Amino acid sequence: MTRHAPLDFRSDTVTRPDQAMLLAMSGAEVADDVLEHDPTMRALEERVADLLGVEAALWVPSGSMGNLIALTVHLRRGDRFLAARGAHVLDSELGTAAWIAGGMPHPLEWAGAPGRISADAVRAAAGADGPYYTLRTTLLCLENTHNSAGGSVTPPDEHALLASAARETGLRVHLDGARLWNAAVALGVPPAALTVGVDTVQVCLSKGLGAPVGSVVAGSSGFVEEARRVRKMLGGGVRQGGVLAAAGLVGLDRLDDLAVDHANAKALARGLGELGWQVDEPETNIVLAGVPDLEVTLNGLRHLGVYAGPMAGKVRFVTHRDVTAADVAEALRRIQSVS
Ligand SMILES: *Cc1c(COP(=O)(O)O)cnc(C)c1O
Repeated sequence: MTRHAPLDFRSDTVTRPDQAMLLAMSGAEVADDVLEHDPTMRALEERVADLLGVEAALWVPSGSMGNLIALTVHLRRGDRFLAARGAHVLDSELGTAAWIAGGMPHPLEWAGAPGRISADAVRAAAGADGPYYTLRTTLLCLENTHNSAGGSVTPPDEHALLASAARETGLRVHLDGARLWNAAVALGVPPAALTVGVDTVQVCLSKGLGAPVGSVVAGSSGFVEEARRVRKMLGGGVRQGGVLAAAGLVGLDRLDDLAVDHANAKALARGLGELGWQVDEPETNIVLAGVPDLEVTLNGLRHLGVYAGPMAGKVRFVTHRDVTAADVAEALRRIQSVS
């Protein structure tokens, strides 16, 4: 039994569309997006392509589908792809990168900081051509921010080094930018500064931006043409999608609000630290805390009406637009009351 209204830090996906968003959705101009391009879908896709500094973009129902579409377009059966250990495409998409896109995953160890990989490791793994039975490595998947590393940010210079190491060795580059908006806001750079040298990028609208549904996968116009076919193949073609795209457009007006989530994450980490918790310093909106018994801690928190989740053996708190600074303070009060 919880005595208080629950404070939900499980994920930034728990946000509900607010009045302004619902109003935009109800007034959206729509058409059948499978038969002809829905005008609001088109507006959203053009705006995202522009923000990401690429030619074209495609709305998709989820980030997982966006990643899968990109991998399906890039990989041939048995091609090896590289990704940082703990990457969403490796651990949290049911192995679709292998069983649908046909890729052979190869994790790269973190170097220097959580969630980061080195250009040298990319070069070494891409490797020279071996005998005929050697695997073909054809793709590097980046993730910025890196979720399971606690929302860690790869800055533009380091990103550019990774992308050029990939290109030098003949790899394509896909960027899983589910929280690329958070990285851009944390760094104070435009999102396009973090897509330099990539072939494709996936960004979520349903996380920090607060849309109920949707992601966008983007790249060249040729890629998007192919991606539209694969989306349909996966059952992801939608009809009057403008209703959903309208929510995404409202979300994009609120990019700067992510700075509030980042400040709230810092306050939460500081407060937990003061209560003796072992917390990593958050770079964006994810706070990871190491605890002796994950299950016991998560249940204890739930009993206090503070919802968190498990991530890489730690407790993960995620701040988002539906938790305020006052909610963070209240969560800390509840935790302190039993400390
Ligand atoms: C959430 C997430 C995704 C997938 O998004 P869904 O919309 O939940 O499918 C992909 N990559 C990363 C890094 C994520 O955090």
